[in-house]
Amino acid sequence: MLIDSHAHIDSERYARDREAILTRAFEAGVGAVLSIGIGEGPAEMHRALDLCRQFNGQRENGANFPRLYASAGIYPHSTTEADDNALAKLDALLAEPEVIACGEIGLDYYHEGAPRAVQREGFIRQLEIAVARKRPVLIHCRGTNESTDAWNDLFLVLDEFWAKTGLGGVMHCFGAGWEQARRSLDLGFLVSFAGNLTYPKAQPLREVAARMPLDGILVETDAPWLAPAPQRGQRNEPAFVAQTAQTLAGLLNLSEAEIASVTTKNFFRLFNLPPDVGN
Ligand SMILES: [Zn+2]
Repeated sequence: MLIDSHAHIDSERYARDREAILTRAFEAGVGAVLSIGIGEGPAEMHRALDLCRQFNGQRENGANFPRLYASAGIYPHSTTEADDNALAKLDALLAEPEVIACGEIGLDYYHEGAPRAVQREGFIRQLEIAVARKRPVLIHCRGTNESTDAWNDLFLVLDEFWAKTGLGGVMHCFGAGWEQARRSLDLGFLVSFAGNLTYPKAQPLREVAARMPLDGILVETDAPWLAPAPQRGQRNEPAFVAQTAQTLAGLLNLSEAEIASVTTKNFFRLFNLPPDVGN
C-alpha cells in the first residue's frame, strides 16, 4: 500500500471526475491520501475536511476509494488573509479528528504573493495553533532562484517556535539540498518527494534522495500539479504517486513493496495513526 501524503483533492480541476480519480488511486495501490486544506484561501480551508468525510462515508459503504485524511492551513501567499477570524477557523478545524496536520504553511520567496514579514508572522501564528492542537505541520518552502534564503529564514522560525514541541512535520515537495534535508531530519521532520524527482534535470535532487535514511521519507503527488515524468504537463492525480515511489525505490535500492512499506510506516508514525488504513 502506498500513501499519497499531499494532494489537493479539493481542486476545481477534479470537479467533474473526483470519484473516478479516487477509484483509480485505489486500483493503483494507494491506500490513503492526505487531502490538503488550503483552498484558494482561508474561506475554503474546510473543503478538504468536507471531502474527506464525504468520501470516507462512501468508502465505508463499499466504495473502492483510498482512506482520506485532511489538513488545514493558510498558504504563504494567503497570509495577508490570516486575520483573527481565519486563525479561529483554523483552530476549530484542527480540533477535528480527521484533520491530522496543519498545512501547507511556510515561506515562499519565489512568487512572494505576500510580503515576507507577513508570511513569517502568519507562519508563526499557525505554528502556535498547531502546537496547541498537537498537530504536525506540512511545510511549503521555496526560495528565490537557486537561493536558500527562504530555507534559512524557515529554519530560524522552526528552531525558535517548533523544535521544542517534538511534533515534527513534513517538508512537502522537497526540492532543496542535502544540508536542508539533514536539518529537517534533525528537527524530526519527514522529507516528502513528489513528481519532480522524476524530471530529467532533477539529478541533484535524486542525489539528495539517494542519501536519505529510510525512516525519513514520504512520497506525494502535490496533485493536480507536478505530474511525474511520463505524465508531465498533464493534470496530476494520486494514482501517479506510484511513479515517484518507483523512482525513489531505485535510488535507495529498494523493491516497490519495500518503498511502499517504509513510507506508509513513516506516515503512520508521524501522525500517530493506527496501521489499519488498508483494511
Ligand atoms: Zn501543495
